Amino acid sequence: MLTIKKKDKVIVLAGKDKGKQGEVLKVYPDKNRVVVTKINFVKRHTRSTQTEPGGIREKEAPVSIAKVMLVCPKCSQPGRPKFDVLSDGKKIRVCRRCGEMIA
Ligand SMILES: [Zn+2]
Repeated sequence: MLTIKKKDKVIVLAGKDKGKQGEVLKVYPDKNRVVVTKINFVKRHTRSTQTEPGGIREKEAPVSIAKVMLVCPKCSQPGRPKFDVLSDGKKIRVCRRCGEMIA
């Protein structure tokens, strides 16, 4: 089970964006990759087409889930959450630092 979901706040642990934080835009569970706002921006040269002019476009590229860590929205500390199961069987993530549930 992935510890990171869409709209989570994460911090980058390695690479050129190390230490930066962003919001998860997209998760690719089968590839263990996530797309995070403003992280791993890559420049892409695009060719002119009939509808769009060519040029350089910047876009976020997916990063490995191992390179990011969830940031707790309550205490703002990065860390791997633990999982808990509620009485109705629903799985929740809990911050190891402040003990708060992470939605
Ligand atoms: Zn916390």
